[in-house]
Amino acid sequence: MTDFPLPPNATIGIVGGGQLGRMSAMAAARLGYRCHIYTPEPDAPASQVAFRTTLADYDDTAALARFADSVDVITFEFENVSFEGLSLLAEHRPVLPGPEILRISQDRVAEKRFLNSACIRTTPWAQVETLADLRSAMSHLGLPAVLKTTRLGYDGKGQALIRAPSEAELAYSLLHPKPLILEAFVDFSAECSTIVARGKDGRAVAFDTVENRHRNHILDLTLAPAPFAAEIRAEAQSMALRIAEHIDLVGLLAVEFFVDANGAVLANEIAPRPHNSGHWTIDACPVSQFEMQIRAVAGLFLPPAIRHSDAVMKNLVGPDEIVLWPQIVATPGLIPHHYGKIHARPGRKLGHVNVLFPYGSLPGQFGIAAALGVLAPSTI
Ligand code: AMP
Repeated sequence: MTDFPLPPNATIGIVGGGQLGRMSAMAAARLGYRCHIYTPEPDAPASQVAFRTTLADYDDTAALARFADSVDVITFEFENVSFEGLSLLAEHRPVLPGPEILRISQDRVAEKRFLNSACIRTTPWAQVETLADLRSAMSHLGLPAVLKTTRLGYDGKGQALIRAPSEAELAYSLLHPKPLILEAFVDFSAECSTIVARGKDGRAVAFDTVENRHRNHILDLTLAPAPFAAEIRAEAQSMALRIAEHIDLVGLLAVEFFVDANGAVLANEIAPRPHNSGHWTIDACPVSQFEMQIRAVAGLFLPPAIRHSDAVMKNLVGPDEIVLWPQIVATPGLIPHHYGKIHARPGRKLGHVNVLFPYGSLPGQFGIAAALGVLAPSTI
């Protein structure tokens, strides 16, 4: 039996050993909690800062059971852990957010169905099992459209843009036999996201909506707050809060949105864990997304998700950016975060930098470039 709120020195189990788990473990330590990481990866970023690690595969049922029995509550930082694995853990200890939320977020069809059932607007979509389904979906949704695998896609992987009917067969052959979904292409003016936390008592808080800019399909910059109309930011926040309530969230959840050319906000994806687009909260908010997650799963009070500064977060991706680390740590105003990864492969997220601006004074493109200094050339 786990009693909430967890007292100091209780142990929080985190499934996944990446940078998200690392930053959650650091936030947990500040609240007096110990973290036990479950990961198949030796020397994982989270293990380097945690109390204990279980090194085992995600489908090792005996190791999962032992891990669960050694902790007070379990959360996760890695979405591709199996629903069955989390369900097994949930037989031993509370898993927060619940495995059912993970199941929905892991499958784009279940996710879109859930969102639409909660009256959350998405781009029109259709499930695709055969080439005939694809042709019929194209005639309903129109072109261009994006064909995606329903599971295990990230950073633009497992997707193909179809611009003309003649491209359908090639796109299908690239992604088939995985289950697929076709989405109407959104001619978006911006991509944004909102992170919400919700406690056992139903109290929910939402961080400010931020704008996300990608490079090579990987998040490059987050601007907090998103530099567009306050009504659009508020609409995304209220949608994220509605999703959290509808899904009965206990924990943290990120919602990614498109803002279309008319300013309409469409939900794209949900992720029931800390999110790369929330890393700015570590330095610009009294309570970061990681502390909110830990507070929510530990049953602590959730303070308001307020921001004392405007901020820009720049990811450090691959060897070309991490090579700048000596200059980054020598530049006043760049707040560095290194993930402790030894191998700097191209496309790998190795750290990030936050830059703060006084509340209400997020500059435009040139001001951001000036503030990023040595990191600006890749951005502008
Ligand atoms: P996702 O894996 O769904 O987050 O998609 C990765 C990226 O592909 C998004 O950040 C968008 O830039 C782009 N994308 C995905 N779906 C669509 C869509 N329906 N219309 C336009 N662009 C999309």
